[in-house]
Amino acid sequence: MIPYRVWAEVDLDALSSNLAEISRLAGPGVGTMLVVKADAYGHGAVAIAHHAVRCGVAGFGVGTSAEALELRLSGIRHPILVLGTVVDGEVPALLGHNVEIGLHSLDRAHKLQVEGSRAGLFARVHVNIDTGMSRLGVRPQKALELMRAVHEASHLKLAGVMTHISSPEGAMDPRTDEQVRIFEEVLEAAKAEGMELGTVHISNSAGLFTGLHPLHDLVRPGISAFGILPGELPGAEALQPILALKSQIVFMKDVPNGRGVGYGSTWRARGDRRIATVPVGYNDGVSWRLSNRGEVLIRGKRAPIVGRVSMDYTTIDITEIPEASVEDVVTFIGTDGDERISVEEIASLAETIAYEITCAVGRRVQRVCVGGQDLILPSQRPTQQASSPAARSYEPKVSPPADPVAPRVRR
Ligand SMILES: *Cc1c(COP(=O)(O)O)cnc(C)c1O
Repeated sequence: MIPYRVWAEVDLDALSSNLAEISRLAGPGVGTMLVVKADAYGHGAVAIAHHAVRCGVAGFGVGTSAEALELRLSGIRHPILVLGTVVDGEVPALLGHNVEIGLHSLDRAHKLQVEGSRAGLFARVHVNIDTGMSRLGVRPQKALELMRAVHEASHLKLAGVMTHISSPEGAMDPRTDEQVRIFEEVLEAAKAEGMELGTVHISNSAGLFTGLHPLHDLVRPGISAFGILPGELPGAEALQPILALKSQIVFMKDVPNGRGVGYGSTWRARGDRRIATVPVGYNDGVSWRLSNRGEVLIRGKRAPIVGRVSMDYTTIDITEIPEASVEDVVTFIGTDGDERISVEEIASLAETIAYEITCAVGRRVQRVCVGGQDLILPSQRPTQQASSPAARSYEPKVSPPADPVAPRVRR
């Protein structure tokens, strides 16, 4: 018996391997700030971050203050940067937990200074320079002034300087050259004034995999660590998918010719068909757009999603898999036998980007970590070996059951 309606298997060995590849591409002396916003793109930030620490990452980037605090409270002591922006009310908790904050304006710098001096703490900030994304960040013309203000303030510390590349094609897009040029100009001007910049970082996954340079001190990959590259970028073959989304058949029924299935009867049986009902819906991460389009794997074979995906249930035509039975594993993302359904395949069917597919894996989906015993990064220190007691204290708090998929799958 499988103890979950629906679960997401997160392969920590594949994560180790992807982080090693990222580290190899980044080159010596360039650290990894793993981006784990949106619950690590739906994979479960706490377990991902604890394993990434064991793999030697330098720190974490998150999207919101709550995400930063969740990691701190789970025991992560590495640097954590709120990449975007925060709201005033969140600042005291962030300072109290030594969370680094992206800085975009003088106004915010003043507020952080006030809060820092009130608490008797340093606000560690990364000045974000808008070199072309036009979303967040200070204009390049104002960047130096902001950096000087940080240096002059008694309770601010310039922990880093960053920018963000807007093109999904990274360095393959000529517009990226322009962003890099603007960024370098600001850095040069700051260095000419003898300013300490902290850690300088620019590259996301797209930049890293297309050879953006210079990378400076840190790279900020997200999606590639999870085994996915946006678009048709080179180097995807060196990455391993880490996510599988699975459920089980809870109900089967034979429907006669002409019978409609699901809301709106958008699918009708042609001839006698057998339908399996699976307790996974769009709330769990199976896009509504996969209605009458997507496929799943059952007993190593593909079977079509028929009718509309609903909030809690999906219906599958299993007529061509007569051996299928209740409690069979149903794979929405991942491998079963020789067949595999990738996040990229689903994203293309659902006419969206891979990011949205993994982020959509819902709260009701149990995250189950597999692997993670073998650490393969050269940056491991001996005290972090899996066998040492120190390493055991780093075990993810989301503890996986011994065998999440029971014996049924391996028949
Ligand atoms: C999300 C994000 C990243 C990571 O981007 P990927 O495309 O997932 O590698 C890096 N930097 C910033 C500022 C981000 O918001």
